[in-house]
Amino acid sequence: MLGLMQQQNLLISDMIEFAEKHHGDTEIISRRVEGDIHRSNWAKIGARSRQVANALDGWHVPAGARVATLAWNGYRHLELYFGVSGSGRVLHTLNPRLHPEQVVWIVNHAEDSVLCFDMTFLPIVKNIHSHCPTVKHWVAMCDADKLPADSGIPELVSYEAWMSSQSNSYAWPELDENTASCMCYTSGTTGNPKAAVYSHRSTLLHAYACALPDVMCLSARDSVLPVVPMFHVNAWGIPYSAAMVGCKLVFPGPALDGKSVYELLETEKVTLAAGVPTVWQMLLGHLKAGSLRFNYLKRTVIGGSACPPAMIQAFNDEYGVEVLHAWGMTELSPLGTLCTLKNKHLELAPDEQMKIRLKQGRAIFGIDFKIVDDQGAEQPNDGKAYGDLLVKGPWVIREYFKQEGPSPLVDGWFPTGDVATVDPEGFMQITDRSKDVIKSGGEWISSIDVENIAMAHPDVAMAACIGMPHPKWDERPVVVVVKKPGCTLSSDDLLKFYDGKIAKWQAPDDVVFVDAIPLGATGKMLKTRLREQLAGYRLPSL
Ligand code: AMP
Repeated sequence: MLGLMQQQNLLISDMIEFAEKHHGDTEIISRRVEGDIHRSNWAKIGARSRQVANALDGWHVPAGARVATLAWNGYRHLELYFGVSGSGRVLHTLNPRLHPEQVVWIVNHAEDSVLCFDMTFLPIVKNIHSHCPTVKHWVAMCDADKLPADSGIPELVSYEAWMSSQSNSYAWPELDENTASCMCYTSGTTGNPKAAVYSHRSTLLHAYACALPDVMCLSARDSVLPVVPMFHVNAWGIPYSAAMVGCKLVFPGPALDGKSVYELLETEKVTLAAGVPTVWQMLLGHLKAGSLRFNYLKRTVIGGSACPPAMIQAFNDEYGVEVLHAWGMTELSPLGTLCTLKNKHLELAPDEQMKIRLKQGRAIFGIDFKIVDDQGAEQPNDGKAYGDLLVKGPWVIREYFKQEGPSPLVDGWFPTGDVATVDPEGFMQITDRSKDVIKSGGEWISSIDVENIAMAHPDVAMAACIGMPHPKWDERPVVVVVKKPGCTLSSDDLLKFYDGKIAKWQAPDDVVFVDAIPLGATGKMLKTRLREQLAGYRLPSL
């Protein structure tokens, strides 16, 4: 017997229609590339996304064609999110922090038909356009009078001239919910990047999940500032969840420094912000230097790489802001887990609660995970056994775009490449990327644990732990450190700081001070590059 309910495809156009109809006057604020603050709302975003859809029809861009963006977080990017996917094309967000050669490779691999870019990225586009034969239309996301006359890019049009003359009436097509809606390439440090292709269904289910109380707890009362870029994994799905709940959105544009972000948090009364640890480092530095406080911010989602305990503590104890530590990846749309306490934890002492908050968190309904050993045998959830983390769920990829060779799945599970423990309460903790685990004397040392301790030292700005070859132990940990400006920390001081905080054999053998740690295109530490930089290094004991 079948259920007797209405059959309705889960579509991205439904989200924007809902936001427009029920939250039309809720504001969408953007700091623009030009530096000024632009004010829009869901009604205008809805109308203009329909104009984008009409403009794409005008160019006869076929259904399923890829429309790429090279853009900051802002209202025009949001209009493209809905206008492109809603009309049946595939939004392809490009990461401008990649090397131009990689951008060219990705554009050609995706066979992008249209490329829309913020003026900041004009130099990249000038560099690459002649190497991108599939791109028929180049759109500069600016007003008509800001279009450069001598760009050298064939038939370059301004976004406003292109779309704002279009009708804002448009009937969103009734697509199959499994139609591709957007795609994003992984920032793989080895080999060519690979693309996750999301569907309308997966995006909508992910948006529902993100908004849940034990996830981002989003509501129409929130003002949300995604520092996390719309050019990588859809700003963690926030633009969609925001439309679904009708909250206010505040976009920082290109200004991600502590001062600019703080200004927006205060003037736009932001209640929730989301970003990677490196961005929050700058914000906390700005607050400390100016003895500032947050007057509105209540929660911040931190993920993308391990959030150092010192940061969780600073937000919590000094500024009264709850940190929601999240884990995910491109292949998961991206959210997999997020850390919030259970009812039984509310009675625990703050120290005990903090131990839980440091973990990457519990599975969100929809995502299932397990840890396995090298033979694929499931490991116990005892908080101690570690293993390769495998996931499955309706917003996890089953294969990559133009997959070559067999599916990446193992018996239906996607291997994340992360190593983790899971405690009896189901809280998952990442110990490492599998390729970063340090193997010493047959045991594993978590580079994240070593880094977190260094980051808790008041003189340390950033720390990366890597394994160095050792003839007896295989590898020994070395911590590479950037000192805070003006600090005179010595190696011995930092090594002593490990006493009593970690088993002696897990503590690093040496400290290497550097001016900067290389970061990848998504703000993660590039340990491959760091290893190359330390190629001639020898451990002190050798
Ligand atoms: P990406 O696909 O670029 O989003 O990168 C995904 C990878 O980032 C994951 O597989 C993890 O290795 C890492 N990652 C994301 N969030 C966290 C976190 N909270 N703690 C530790 N690693 C993380």
